[in-house]
Amino acid sequence: MPSPFARVTADDLAAFRMICGDGNVLTEQAELDIHGADETEDLCFPPEVVLRPETAAQIQAIMRQCSRRRIPVTPRGAGTGLSGGALPVNGGVSLSLAKMNRILEIDTSNLVIVTQPGVITQVLQEAVEAQGLYYPPDPASRGSCFIGGNIAECAGGPRALKYGVTKDYVLGVEAVLPDGSLIRWGGKLLKNVTGYNLAQLLVGSEGTLAIVTEITLRLIPLPKERVCLVVPFDDGQAAARALTKIFMARLTPSAAEYLEGAAVRCAEAKFGKSFPQSDAEAHLLLELDGNDRAQLDKDATSGRCAVGSVKR
Ligand SMILES: Cc1cc2nc3c(=O)[nH]c(=O)nc-3n(C[C@H](O)[C@H](O)[C@H](O)COP(=O)(O)OP(=O)(O)OC[C@H]3O[C@@H](n4cnc5c(N)ncnc54)[C@H](O)[C@@H]3O)c2cc1C
Repeated sequence: MPSPFARVTADDLAAFRMICGDGNVLTEQAELDIHGADETEDLCFPPEVVLRPETAAQIQAIMRQCSRRRIPVTPRGAGTGLSGGALPVNGGVSLSLAKMNRILEIDTSNLVIVTQPGVITQVLQEAVEAQGLYYPPDPASRGSCFIGGNIAECAGGPRALKYGVTKDYVLGVEAVLPDGSLIRWGGKLLKNVTGYNLAQLLVGSEGTLAIVTEITLRLIPLPKERVCLVVPFDDGQAAARALTKIFMARLTPSAAEYLEGAAVRCAEAKFGKSFPQSDAEAHLLLELDGNDRAQLDKDATSGRCAVGSVKR
């Protein structure tokens, strides 16, 4: 069956250079190989060209050109995805958001941040924490992934337990549709309850619906104190049940992660570091947060009692 897509021609490359500038149109094989892979194991689908636009207007022009010519476009954040979303499986354009990496506003009156998609998640978190605010979603890749990639994958980490995941913080988006039109949904308001929730439609859409060019995220006050616990168990089932017991003891950990003993021992061997009581069958990694240190220490101690059959 013939491909429904067109190949990128010299005329297309000339058009892309007019739109983004020569330096932002990459055709070297090394670049194509890098942009043909993400962290999904052993897969590589090199694009025909990598584009690095710097503005939403440039993305609109790229999408108009590609839509008219039927050239496939795959948006790309930092390429840390584990589900192959950034792989240009049909060739065409890898559209990198790496150059749209500015935080546009931290609004401390409305407790929101407005950002471009190419900002590294940890950079965004540290910027708001410097203002006493908090953006909790914490994928383990936060030191390298982009906030735009987090939106497209609805990323989350251990703090999902108390604080939720990316979708719980998205108040508004600006995005470019495949035909090049620019749309804005939502914004700096919490109670946005009428009409379709189109911002949320883009969350988790893996770049299949639109290219996100600006994001408005809800922030919360930064808790002053944190306590971390590593609780070893003789039995994995008991570790899982312990979490319910902790909730029933009226404690809500700010983060929780279940660690299998075998995985802990593998990590020790690989990284040459030791983990407390690594001979245990399982561990719960728990974090409590709040503003009162004495209360947190008390909660942490009573939490340990609540979990029941700990190893030692
Ligand atoms: C070591 C490691 C640990 C990880 N830990 C976690 C974890 O704890 N929790 C978790 O949820 N994930 C985790 N991940 C997966 C990954 O980091 C996340 O999915 C992250 O959100 C991807 O962001 P990215 O910028 O790298 O996006 P990419 O991998 O570049 O792209 C991911 C998807 O988003 C789309 N996309 C990117 N930017 C845009 C945009 N601006 N507009 C539209 N679509 C876009 C792409 O087309 C693709 O479909 C981990 C990955 C690694 C390698």
